[in-house]
Amino acid sequence: MRHANGCHWGRFVRTIVEVETDNGIVGLGEMGGGGESAEAVFRAMKSYLVGHDPARLEEMRFLIANPTASLYNNRTQVLAALEFACLDILGQAWGVPVSEILGGRLRDRVPFASYLFFRYPNPKTGEGEVRTIDQVLANAHAMKKKYGFTTHKVKAGVFHPDYELEVYRAVAREFPDDRIRYDCNAVWSVEQAIRFGQGIEGLRNDYLEDPAFGLHALRRVRQMVRVPLATNTVVVNFEQLAANILDTAVDVILLDTTFWGGIRPCVKAAAVCETFQIGVAVHSSGELGIQLASMLHLGAVIPNLSFAADAHYHHLADDVVEGGLLLYQAGSIAVPTGPGLGVRLNRDKLAEYADLYKRLGGYPYDQDPLRPGWTALVPNDRWADPTDGRTPRIPY
Ligand SMILES: [Mg+2]
Repeated sequence: MRHANGCHWGRFVRTIVEVETDNGIVGLGEMGGGGESAEAVFRAMKSYLVGHDPARLEEMRFLIANPTASLYNNRTQVLAALEFACLDILGQAWGVPVSEILGGRLRDRVPFASYLFFRYPNPKTGEGEVRTIDQVLANAHAMKKKYGFTTHKVKAGVFHPDYELEVYRAVAREFPDDRIRYDCNAVWSVEQAIRFGQGIEGLRNDYLEDPAFGLHALRRVRQMVRVPLATNTVVVNFEQLAANILDTAVDVILLDTTFWGGIRPCVKAAAVCETFQIGVAVHSSGELGIQLASMLHLGAVIPNLSFAADAHYHHLADDVVEGGLLLYQAGSIAVPTGPGLGVRLNRDKLAEYADLYKRLGGYPYDQDPLRPGWTALVPNDRWADPTDGRTPRIPY
């Protein structure tokens, strides 16, 4: 799957965390990235956690990620995985789903957007390429048919913006009753972003996501473009949220349970956004079922979720939770009703994919298999070629 900074080379790398209590409850957490360094970080957390009451979540925030101590040691994402695990423990101990701990659910299902990537052909089969406009539309139809999506996210920033503007307009034309959104991952100049933004005014846009990099750049875009702007890059903590409220740069904040340090910080941020009538949606950073559960419980409890959530989840071929992949129905996924996060580990699957990771290692997220040595600039002008239909070789 191709993106503005490189590719997902056929897999995601995640670290699964288990926190065990003295009365034998095991809580599950998940973090992006992996390998020995991630394992070492979580093992080092043991000395902080032994003897700690998992109900004391605010205490744990200062224990693990005190904001001033974090100047030396940023553990926000580590805290997030531990917070998922502690909430999972509490839910199991109290016999309630995490959503009940967070204020109670307002909805039983969370709607998701299709997440339309440009894709290289599958190296094994040569099929599944998404590059031309016809291929993008065929892929969108296939996703809609299989999962029932009524919102389409075009994940781009790969090709020249003039080409991508044609792609986006074609999606808008093809699905006139559906909602659409576009994300170039902040690789454009302000001027380019204005040109594209003005070119999509009048379409059924949810928002234009990170068209340029930085709050100041987005403020300049917002002055010139009559489409709501969204970000998952430059408002990812409360300091930045405050800056965005005092001098607004984006209209919609995409809350990520990992980037913000857990589900609860996202609930707090959503409340701030509710107060100032800033929009919110749920961001995806390439989740397996455990983090997906955190996103579902978040989506269930925030009143101001006015957009379909993002998920990479439907691009997965398999999951490490019991029962396999959680199911989409009519474009949405049911919020788990079991105690805690409501998902349990399938240890066979975990072992299988841990072995695969040991064999293959990580992948260079910020590299493109067919463009060795390439890197994107900000703003970028080194676009991929939309007439290049080669198939990469990727080991499995
Ligand atoms: Mg984004």
